Amino acid sequence: MAEATTEVTMDKLVSLCKRRGFVYQSSEIYGGLTGAWDYGPLGVELKNNVEHFWWKEMTQLHDNIVGLDAAIMMHPRTWEASGHVDNFSDPLVDCKNCKSRFRADQIDLEAACPVCGVKGEFTEPRDFNLMFSTYMGAVKSEDNIVYLRPETAQGIFVNFKNVVQTSRVRIPFGIAQVGKAFRNEITTKNFIFRTLEFEQMEMQFFVKPGDDQEWFEYWKNERINYYNKLGIRKDKLRFHQHGPDELAHYAKDAFDIEFYFPMGWQELEGIHSRTDFDLARHAEFSRKDMTYLDDQTRERYVPYVIETSAGLTRSVLMVLSDAYEEQQLEDGETRTVMHFHPLVAPVTVAVLPLVKKDGIADLAKSIEKELREDYATFYDQSGAIGRRYRRQDEIGTPFCITIDYDTKEDNTVTIRYRDSMKQERVPVSELAQKIRTEIKNYRRD
Ligand code: ATP
Repeated sequence: MAEATTEVTMDKLVSLCKRRGFVYQSSEIYGGLTGAWDYGPLGVELKNNVEHFWWKEMTQLHDNIVGLDAAIMMHPRTWEASGHVDNFSDPLVDCKNCKSRFRADQIDLEAACPVCGVKGEFTEPRDFNLMFSTYMGAVKSEDNIVYLRPETAQGIFVNFKNVVQTSRVRIPFGIAQVGKAFRNEITTKNFIFRTLEFEQMEMQFFVKPGDDQEWFEYWKNERINYYNKLGIRKDKLRFHQHGPDELAHYAKDAFDIEFYFPMGWQELEGIHSRTDFDLARHAEFSRKDMTYLDDQTRERYVPYVIETSAGLTRSVLMVLSDAYEEQQLEDGETRTVMHFHPLVAPVTVAVLPLVKKDGIADLAKSIEKELREDYATFYDQSGAIGRRYRRQDEIGTPFCITIDYDTKEDNTVTIRYRDSMKQERVPVSELAQKIRTEIKNYRRD
């Protein structure tokens, strides 16, 4: 038996992520770049798995949602139409003493500067647009400005007509997209929670005006269920409804799904009722028709939109935070274990021969090779078995298979479960199927 001990802190997560190759500071050898992080060998697997989990949930498991992958750089008029050129800004203040920058809505302007401690020395708040811009082509002029998209959503809106005309979708339907987004955030902190370059997983669901409330409720439900399927503990998730002062310029109603991160409750995903704001604005700015014709009722209208907008990189932080546990074992040792859902764990099965000699290692290698077809595997023959288990626990590998002398005799192996540390003997011929069943039935204790 094992007992959970300390709460996860950000320092512990950052340290594990660095030590085990999940996340590194960007350009670390040059002192790092603020607000930018790189995903290492295990981190990229975890991030890809979270992305695939979302993609499958949204497209494969909803037959009325199709996918899209739009360009990061879009026609600059897009961002005028969307309101980002005029509205996508945060109020910025500088400390006149130490020159540190803050978001005016995140600090008390009468109080002391959180960095240098000098009181009341802040500049007047001024709007700071969060979009990164650059120039396209050889000439640096106002006419050549392009923006790095600050959200993936607009790539979906500008392709609304293309998708309707070239696929068999009928309202109500959705378009899903995963991709990079960029925001020149004034303050970045808390590891990969808020970064300048990040990834979003967004879905715009097009409905008939009047049906939007019903679909808004539907998507709130679907999205919270998704996190349950991903194995996130229920008491770490909650809804937060936006008050009138929080609503974005396009939103009629909005709920955030919040997660209890190491620094407290914070937004993970936004669910927004966007009305026809975006399509109507693109119709106005592009002078293209954005209406939809219902071929059964012959009604023509500009659809309303329900958006679900989640951060992929922020989801990775959620998965890491929720998975982390330190346990005090009966023998007095502490084990660090990451309780990843097996579908997102970077390694699904580790294959560990108990000894190397007498053909045991070769046998283990051949079993590992077979499992590779279906699972992300890892082969490790070095060190005491207890230490090898600990290494796998720390990177969240849900299943360890050990091969021993009995395997040669009766073709069975031991499967050891990460969460319970229980062990079971299984015939090699049933191993792949056994793992499949265990993944399907997985519940975190
Ligand atoms: P905030 O008010 O915290 O800046 P927001 O409400 O503007 O965020 P949205 O525009 O709704 O965020 O973005 C949708 C999702 O994209 C967020 O829920 C979050 O998961 C993710 N996201 C937004 N900004 C960042 C960022 N700078 N770094 C990482 N993820 C982000």
